[in-house]
Amino acid sequence: METMQQIYDLIILGGGCAGLTAGIYAGRAKMRTVILENKQAGGQAATTDEIANYPGFSSIAGPELADRMLEQARSFGAEYITCDVQSVRLTGEIKEVATATGVYRSRAIILATGANPKKLGFEGEDEFRGRGVGYCATCDGFFFEDKDIFVIGGGYSAAEEALYLTRFGKKVTILVRKDRFRCAQSIVDKVMSHPKIEVRFNTEIEKAFGGDLLQGAVFKNNKTGETTEYRVSEQDGTFGIFVFVGYEPASSLFAGQVDLDGQGYVKTGENMETGVPGVFAAGDLRPKLLRQLVTATADGAVAAVQAERYVAEQKEKYGIRDGAAGGDGAPYSSGATAGGSRAGDGSSMDVTDRTAGEISGKKSDDRTGEHLTAEIRREVAAVFEKLERDAVLICMVDDKVEKSKELAAFLKEVCSLSSHLKLEIYSVGQRPEVEEQIRLERLPAAALLDEHRNYTGVKFSGIPGGHEFNSFILAIYNLAGPGQEVGEALRSRAEKIEKQARLQIAVSLSCHFCPETVAAAQRLAILNPCIEAEMIDMGLFPELRKKYNIMSVPAVILNGGKIAFGAQNMEAILGMIEKDA
Ligand code: NDP
Repeated sequence: METMQQIYDLIILGGGCAGLTAGIYAGRAKMRTVILENKQAGGQAATTDEIANYPGFSSIAGPELADRMLEQARSFGAEYITCDVQSVRLTGEIKEVATATGVYRSRAIILATGANPKKLGFEGEDEFRGRGVGYCATCDGFFFEDKDIFVIGGGYSAAEEALYLTRFGKKVTILVRKDRFRCAQSIVDKVMSHPKIEVRFNTEIEKAFGGDLLQGAVFKNNKTGETTEYRVSEQDGTFGIFVFVGYEPASSLFAGQVDLDGQGYVKTGENMETGVPGVFAAGDLRPKLLRQLVTATADGAVAAVQAERYVAEQKEKYGIRDGAAGGDGAPYSSGATAGGSRAGDGSSMDVTDRTAGEISGKKSDDRTGEHLTAEIRREVAAVFEKLERDAVLICMVDDKVEKSKELAAFLKEVCSLSSHLKLEIYSVGQRPEVEEQIRLERLPAAALLDEHRNYTGVKFSGIPGGHEFNSFILAIYNLAGPGQEVGEALRSRAEKIEKQARLQIAVSLSCHFCPETVAAAQRLAILNPCIEAEMIDMGLFPELRKKYNIMSVPAVILNGGKIAFGAQNMEAILGMIEKDA
């Protein structure tokens, strides 16, 4: 595995609000800083519809706040890279973080990997995951239009997400296991007075059941012992259960290297120091009384200031000039450095990451074109400057099919940003051989051909807007540009696939976890012509959702059979294909 030449002053593991704030402070202190994150920036905040208790904002959308924090960290010089961290070495003066694309090294490290949603463990929870049981309201809420929804939990998440889900469900019932909520009274008041919400206290779920989809559940009053059964009406067919019962720390990578408490939280002192020199922890990963945005950001700031002091002392000890270039630290430059090319480090990763992290393709008033804001056009153009080869975008439309015009206009605008991109727009029936080549099944659709006009297997059914704009730009970058670095082991596994693998990735454009999965599948398709990866917008193609009983996104369907719910990386998708071979 390649080791990056550069030794950073600080690696921040995790791009949630604690990590981004640490990035802002470290960047401002002129530390050479990189933030490594495997999902979208902002962590839990980025999946929160509305935040009403962050000082200075009476109300702000979580994704917007996250975007602003990322922008601010970058404006102070912090790099932000999307990658999967495989292992860490926290001991010694140089810390090492191994990712699929290389090893990053630094003098100090801040652990800010946060926490993951907890599962409950009731009977049927795993069986109906993606078929009625969900953990992300913004991703999956729209599947439950005019259906009954049950929300389990009594904290902030349960209360706030229940309010959000009232946009879709005909009724939202919250099951709270105690006789009270565990969040601010102002939210409790909103919940209790909402005409679509019913709250059942002292109530827990025992099991969920059904056929292809969720059809019923058994609840128990833990005071009286009385059980009640809910069965969905024939007319509704199915219903939703959303679980928001807290989080568990994402600390397994650090076990054995820093002290964890009984629940797996990373123990720290008041200044975010762990017991290991140069290693700090911030945010939801730490044991604390109050897990809120404001405490996460505070942790991030303190951790960065402490890390800066630590690194300054280290540099003084070894006589390292501040601002010296990467690979500067003479005491460390042997051994850990493998040398070689910087592919997978430096600019290419930063560029791909900008697309993944920042560009959302959302409409705004600041428009110069039909779909993209001036700022987004600039950012995309900067990514497209790296393109080295031509690529052809085939756009298949039908005037009778909704969204056809919108897709054509959208692609025209994107393609106008690079001379490497050739756009061909055809009405359905006009070029049957091209339809056959791109295995057209749904309209409207966009497919990517390489410079020799070979179909790459990358296809978008629907408009790759919203969060999917990221995967769309990444697909172009991966095909016609240097591409995101893929580790040697993964590349050779992907290249070995000989059997046709047709991946359909069901998404919603409001799902923050979906682009990661689409990009991973399409990266594989670009590596191997046997693999096809089609993004399918569930909002536009509900028949697919019926056919496969999809009630949660992302869902990856392989060869029209096996289906996997939840975010998947390249490794997981490859594993799925290999098993099927
Ligand atoms: P919390 O840990 O705050 O609450 C979890 C809830 O789930 C509690 O009501 C808990 O019940 C219940 N629960 C736990 N286990 C079970 C179980 N087995 N069966 C039934 N119910 C169960 O988690 P949240 O996800 O709400 O929030 C996580 C963190 O993020 C919190 O620190 C929260 O403060 C913060 N947050 C803040 C927000 C804001 O300030 N706007 C928004 C969202 C999150 P019990 O009370 O009985 O333990």
